[in-house]
Amino acid sequence: MPSPASDPLDRYEAVIGIEVHCQLRTASKMFCGCSTDYDGAPPNTRTCPVCLGLPGALPTINARAVEHVLAAGAAIEATAPAATRWDRKNYFYPDLPKGYQISQYQLPLASRGRLTFDTSAGPFTVTITRAHLEEDTAKLVHGVDPAGRKVSLVDFNRSGAPLMEIVTEPEIRTAEQARRYAEELQLLLRSIGASDADMERGQMRVEANVSLRPRGTEPFGTRVEVKNMNSFRAVERAIDFEIARQAAVLDAGETLIQETRGWSEERGETYRMRIKETSDDYRYFPEPDLPPLHLDPAWLGAIEAGLPELPAARRTRYREQLGLSPYDASLLVADPDAARLFEETLGADDSLDAKPVANWVVGEYLRLRNAASEPVTVVASQLAAIVRAVQDGSITRAHGREVLAEHASSGASAPSIITARGYRQISDGDAIDAAIERVLAEQPGAVADFRAGKDQAIGFLVGQVMRATKGQANAALVQRAVRERLAADAGQGS
Ligand code: ADP
Ligand code: MG
Ligand code: ZN
Repeated sequence: MPSPASDPLDRYEAVIGIEVHCQLRTASKMFCGCSTDYDGAPPNTRTCPVCLGLPGALPTINARAVEHVLAAGAAIEATAPAATRWDRKNYFYPDLPKGYQISQYQLPLASRGRLTFDTSAGPFTVTITRAHLEEDTAKLVHGVDPAGRKVSLVDFNRSGAPLMEIVTEPEIRTAEQARRYAEELQLLLRSIGASDADMERGQMRVEANVSLRPRGTEPFGTRVEVKNMNSFRAVERAIDFEIARQAAVLDAGETLIQETRGWSEERGETYRMRIKETSDDYRYFPEPDLPPLHLDPAWLGAIEAGLPELPAARRTRYREQLGLSPYDASLLVADPDAARLFEETLGADDSLDAKPVANWVVGEYLRLRNAASEPVTVVASQLAAIVRAVQDGSITRAHGREVLAEHASSGASAPSIITARGYRQISDGDAIDAAIERVLAEQPGAVADFRAGKDQAIGFLVGQVMRATKGQANAALVQRAVRERLAADAGQGS
């Protein structure tokens, strides 16, 4: 008998498929002209007969939404059909006024793509079964009315907003792979401008289908769909919880049932929501109010040609052409502001090497930005000036950091801050020599220690010289000069 404390993944292999819904970035809704800019708008102010599902209202297709899905399809190397069709997915729920959702069943806009992402165990590629276009539902708001009664209200502002659903094959095996897939997909969708894909704001909703099978066996086990994860961390935690829960059920000799479970962030566990519907329950049939959509190859070609550099290609370029470490390349590409600053700084001074610029952006800019309560702005040409000044020794690295911090908060130029603060570093040999003479005369104890073989004493002496020059001496030069000076004394046999 396996002990309950043993890792369930020793006995079982997890089989995971991910479904992502993301809201597309369009000005108007999927099948009507209502604005999608409803965040914070009073309830039910972004509605019309179409998105309220009133009888007789007719849908029209939002071309921009179709373009976003086709662009996403091209970015994941999927295939687009010659023509697509719309299908009605029928079910009853108060947030769905028509009693059906217009979706795509048999002919999605994108089929058989793939996405590669990094994991702690190396790169992993997952097949993407399909990406299709559909419409979002309204939002139910549960609360208490002025008389103290529990009420559920419906806000139709979101009803009919364009939604893309992206489904993977059940090829994912760990919670970490699932989280990394979702992160890479978010980055990709943002990079092509298809979606803001903010999980906390519900613009990107991740559902995980999880089942277990005994290691070494082929057939899939019964799957459970987990939803309501509001962050990447929650995706990973929910899947890990579900793997352990299912393993315990199987170990007890019981069977799992196909169901939909929700993730409770507070309790750190999944809970039953409903027994899963099957596609038969939805009675899909072709949408009679919309014609099939023919996809002109020239249109597809233009969309593909218009794709920007994708995250994976950018990481490869940073590593292979610019010589960055995989870590720096990933960090920069994952953060569009940082990547932009990095590229613009390199562009501002083409004598700068990519590596030190990446270090300043990753090490200093990101630290400043993440610590700041207000948005910080660093102008690329000013960062270039700072990196240059530190590199050619005219200011110290520590001062460079302070100049960057002040530039970021006040917007003042780097040269003006350097001058105002008197940061110009002393590289002038005579001034440094004079300071060294003074310090050696004042610190006979440390000098004697050094002569007695205590090499650490040099650090103290260099520190005193740096103090005497108010930190403006070049530390490397001082270190060398102090050693030379003491070695010369020793040579005289004094
Ligand atoms: P539905 O439309 O009912 O949600 P799909 O067949 O489209 O079902 O599958 C949804 C997701 O579940 C896909 O990502 C798929 O890879 C995944 N999946 C299918 N079977 C299993 C299984 N046995 N275990 C884990 N995931 C699975
Ligand atoms: Mg599903
Ligand atoms: Zn509308």
